[in-house]
Amino acid sequence: MDVEFSLIERIRRRALKTDAVLLGIGDDAALLRGTGDQAVVVCTDTLVAGVHFPPETAPADIGWKALAVNLSDLAAMGARPTACTLALTLPEADAAWIEAFLDGFCALAGAHGVALIGGDTTRGPLCITVTALGTVAAQQALRRDGAQHGDVICVTGTLGDAAAAVRHWQAGEPTDAALRQRLDRPEPRVAAGQALRGVAKACIDISDGLLADLGHVLAASGVGAELTLPALPSSSALRERVHERERWPLQLAGGDDYELCFCVPAVQLESARAQLAALGVACTAIGQIIEGCGIVCRDHEGREYSVTRTGYRHFSESVPQ
Ligand code: ADP
Ligand code: MG
Repeated sequence: MDVEFSLIERIRRRALKTDAVLLGIGDDAALLRGTGDQAVVVCTDTLVAGVHFPPETAPADIGWKALAVNLSDLAAMGARPTACTLALTLPEADAAWIEAFLDGFCALAGAHGVALIGGDTTRGPLCITVTALGTVAAQQALRRDGAQHGDVICVTGTLGDAAAAVRHWQAGEPTDAALRQRLDRPEPRVAAGQALRGVAKACIDISDGLLADLGHVLAASGVGAELTLPALPSSSALRERVHERERWPLQLAGGDDYELCFCVPAVQLESARAQLAALGVACTAIGQIIEGCGIVCRDHEGREYSVTRTGYRHFSESVPQ
């Protein structure tokens, strides 16, 4: 198992669970007992300079992304966002930086009606942690553990743009503006997540790469998957710049797409597609859930295609287990 997840598993084993917790560690967000049939949905995500964004990223983009990655986790639960807190660790007290950061943060918060209700401010290497809160009817929450043999695997939007932008940045090459926009200003699929309630059997947002994140759904559901790589949806910007076979590793193992990957019974596929189309969100079937475990990827000829690296890793394998 990946080192990050073996650490999380250690934490999960020792975590106190109470009657208030409907769903604890292990999904995109936790569910707490709310009033009536409603659950309070809670998630938290950290951005570290140089790890989650290039150090020269504009502060407004950092502000946007810090909230976006959290709203994406709420979207993956089918939740309606309500509020958030903001913990900022800053190398220096720079009012102009904060104002610019807030331009991005508040623009996205305003677009989704998310109140900023608290936080913390400390000095240190640049690091931003947002905790986001939302609501969903507990029975309708989109979890990772509901995928079933025969379900169709779908994704919203397109995959691979942000990973291509990261690759250009790492190689010191100029980045296409459309690709860089996907890295800097991800659009959390909040409305799409809510539209999939009662339709999708399982859902996750793609933050670490399709294989890694779909892998979490498969592990939680006790099933396997077969993916048809030529079906992976690509933006025109990516298609213009990267040949199909070089796109696949970006789309499968690159992170930062913040699209939703979800599973629907075949009979519900058209309904899911129509619901998302009404929101202007593309929905592409990319494979199916099979019995067993793991993911088999197939190319145009149906040949198996293997990818060595399956997702972003925060820790090298040398960290003690
Ligand atoms: P995501 O990519 O959706 O944000 P992660 O892969 O970061 O999810 O985390 C997987 C699960 O582990 C989530 O339920 C998350 O809340 C939980 N988790 C991660 N780190 C910790 C931690 N330090 N303490 C408790 N729970 C954690
Ligand atoms: Mg997630």
